[in-house]
Amino acid sequence: MSRKLSRWTQLVQPDFSQKTSLKSLTTPVERASTVVFDTVEKLRKRDWLDKNQYTYGLLGTPTTRKLEEQLAMIDGVPHAMLLPSGLSAISTTLLALLKSGDRVLMPSNSYEPGLTFLRSLQSQFHVELDFYDPAHPENLVIKENTKLLWIETPGSVTMEVADLPALAKIAHAHGVLVAIDATWAAGIALPAFELGADIVIQALTKYQSGGSDVMMGSITVESDSIYQQLREMQIKLGLGVSPEDCHLILRSLPHYPLRYRVQDQSARTIAAKLQQQPLIEAVLHPALPGAPGHNIWARDFSAAASLFSIVFKPEITQVQIDRFVESLQLFHLGFSWGGAVSLAIPYLRNQMHAGYAYEGCLVRFYIGLEDTQDLITDLEQAFQTLDN
Ligand SMILES: *Cc1c(COP(=O)(O)O)cnc(C)c1O
Repeated sequence: MSRKLSRWTQLVQPDFSQKTSLKSLTTPVERASTVVFDTVEKLRKRDWLDKNQYTYGLLGTPTTRKLEEQLAMIDGVPHAMLLPSGLSAISTTLLALLKSGDRVLMPSNSYEPGLTFLRSLQSQFHVELDFYDPAHPENLVIKENTKLLWIETPGSVTMEVADLPALAKIAHAHGVLVAIDATWAAGIALPAFELGADIVIQALTKYQSGGSDVMMGSITVESDSIYQQLREMQIKLGLGVSPEDCHLILRSLPHYPLRYRVQDQSARTIAAKLQQQPLIEAVLHPALPGAPGHNIWARDFSAAASLFSIVFKPEITQVQIDRFVESLQLFHLGFSWGGAVSLAIPYLRNQMHAGYAYEGCLVRFYIGLEDTQDLITDLEQAFQTLDN
C-alpha cells in the first residue's frame, strides 16, 4: 500500500507480529477469539484437535495450553483439558462417554450436582444409573451394558474411602471405563492413574486455584482415543476457559503442594483434638488412625486434604449445631474450599445419602492457612455454646 495509513487505521492494526523480548518468569496472559492464518491453505487444513496448532480462542491460547501441559505433567499422562468448572468437567465426561441404554455405576456418596446431571441423562436419554457401595467392591454388579464406573474418594461430605485398585480391576476385567473425581487428592495425594483410573477429574477451583476466586475444572487422560472423544464433546458444547483464570492458577501451582501439606498437618492436629471432644460421635478424617477408611487411605494415599467432617452425638439437635457453626469466628460459612480461609458447613440429617451410618448430624470443616492453635481455640469457644 503506497498511501500512508490514517492514524485511526494504525490504531486498529498495529504490528501484531512484534513479539516481546521481555524475559520474565511468568506465563503471559494471551487472549484470543480470532486466530489469524498465514494462508488460505493453512486455514482450510486446520485441525481443531491438534494441540500444536492455534485455530480459535475457544480451543486454546498459549496460556491455556501451558496450564493443560502442567496438569498432564502432574498426573504423568499425555492429555489434559480445561473446563469452566469442576462440575462441567464431570458433565462433559458423562455426556462424552455415555449413550442411550448405557449403564453407569455411581457411588451414592458422590458430589451431588454431578449426580443431579446424571439423573437428567437418565430421564432424558435413558442412561441407566445404579448405585454401588464403594467400601465393598466385591458387591459390584457389572452387566452387559455397563459402560462406566464412577469413583469419588473420599466421598463428598461423608468421606468414605473407595478401594480404587480393587474397583478398577473388576471394571477393567469387563471392559468398563473407570472415571474418578480426585478433587480431594488434588493430583498430590493419590496416584490415580497408577491405581487404575482411566479418566481423572479435578475441581481446580479448590487447592489449584487457592484463592477462593477462580472456577475451573480439568480432565486428564492417558488414552488418545478417550481424549479425542472428550475433546470433541467439549468443542461441541462450546466450553472454554479464560486465559486470565489460567494465569491465576499457573501463578498458584508452584506453591499449592506446600499449602496442601501444611494444611494437611494443621487439619490432622485439629481432627485429632476433635476426637477427644465428648459431644462428637465420630471424626470422619481418613488419615486419622481408627477412622473409617483409614487402612485403604494409608495403603493408597500419601497425604490428605484439609477437608473432613465430624458427626455430633445424636442428642445434639440441629438447632444447637447451627448455633455452634454460627458462633465460630474464624471459620466462615460457605461452599467450595481450597483457599486460605477456613470454612464450616452443617448438613441436615435428611441430606445424607443412603449409606450414611450415623444418627447424628454432620459438620464439614475445611482447614485453611490460619494458625492451628487459633482455629482450635475458636472451636473450643464454639463448643461452649452447646453446654447451655
Ligand atoms: C467442588 C467440587 C466439584 C465441583 O467443582 P466446581 O468447580 O465448584 O464446579 C466437584 N467434585 C468435587 C469432589 C468437589 O469438591
